[in-house]
Amino acid sequence: MFEQKPIIDLLDSSVPTLSVEFFPPKSQDGVESLVDAASRIASRKPDFVSVTYGAGGSTRDLSASVSERMKNDIDLQVMPHLTCVGSTKEELATIVDGFYQDGYRNIMALRGDPPKGQEAFVRTEGGFSYASDLVAFIKSRHPDICLGIAGYPEKHPEAPSMDSDLDTLKVKADAGGSFITTQLFFDNAVFFQYMEKVQSRGIQIPIVPGIMPVLSLKQIKRITQLCQSSLPNSLESQLSKVESDPEAVRRLGVEWAAAQIEDLLANGVPGIHIYALNKARSAIELIDAARR
Ligand SMILES: Cc1cc2nc3c(=O)[nH]c(=O)nc-3n(C[C@H](O)[C@H](O)[C@H](O)COP(=O)(O)OP(=O)(O)OC[C@H]3O[C@@H](n4cnc5c(N)ncnc54)[C@H](O)[C@@H]3O)c2cc1C
Repeated sequence: MFEQKPIIDLLDSSVPTLSVEFFPPKSQDGVESLVDAASRIASRKPDFVSVTYGAGGSTRDLSASVSERMKNDIDLQVMPHLTCVGSTKEELATIVDGFYQDGYRNIMALRGDPPKGQEAFVRTEGGFSYASDLVAFIKSRHPDICLGIAGYPEKHPEAPSMDSDLDTLKVKADAGGSFITTQLFFDNAVFFQYMEKVQSRGIQIPIVPGIMPVLSLKQIKRITQLCQSSLPNSLESQLSKVESDPEAVRRLGVEWAAAQIEDLLANGVPGIHIYALNKARSAIELIDAARR
């Protein structure tokens, strides 16, 4: 079994990390194809992968079993995500201690999105309101766990202003966040401005940009609307022109993301996190492009 190491040690080295994010399948049937995609990506030796945490019980079980398969069968460095949604402190303690006993040394600590059908996040009685509370809680139980936290180059949708979002990011980092992974963005200028603002707040931890290759115009419009990231006009109009040809859309999406990655690496980012949407081919093409 791959020895799980704190990701912050990798981010502190001179070579930028390349990591890939997966989300758990909706049912057990999808597990094998996801494990297959992860095995193909593993052949490119990403520095780590992460597995998102859903709002419902069955997705959570699948998230845990997919993480275990990736860690034990494919020998990947795995960072499970964990959210505050629907769990009391006691339940979160059981999950966190379980991760630790299973050998994980990294967790992406989040507040989480409200479950389907629920408009706003509601704190579970006996649970936490903010990711910073979860970060402090995990650190108090396992000081040696390395914690990723989320950052929003275009502001978290619920934050009244970028300033207040940066204030709460500082609280989250000071509570024990080791590095920031950003929400997806398609314009690097947005990321560079964000990086400056974060650093000028005195937040010194590494900031890893999150990059998503567009796979379909309809899907990316839905995703960007949900997370309130902007889709540049030039990308949207290029995608519209080839909309009826799924392979042309995919190629354009990968080319755009590869150009973003090349520019980010040239500007010294500590790593790149790829939102691969469980698709091995595009993730592999981006890893290869990043290493060229
Ligand atoms: C890299 C990444 C991975 C993700 N993975 C998942 C996942 O696996 N599962 C999932 O469900 N969702 C995931 N998300 C989405 C995330 O859960 C949502 O964006 C969620 O709405 C906010 O989570 P957070 O951890 O950023 O919350 P927080 O940092 O708690 O912030 C939430 C909001 O509250 C505000 N806030 C924070 N602290 C305070 C405070 N003390 N007082 C007042 N306001 C405050 C913030 O400004 C922000 O508006 C991910 C997002 C990213 C960027």
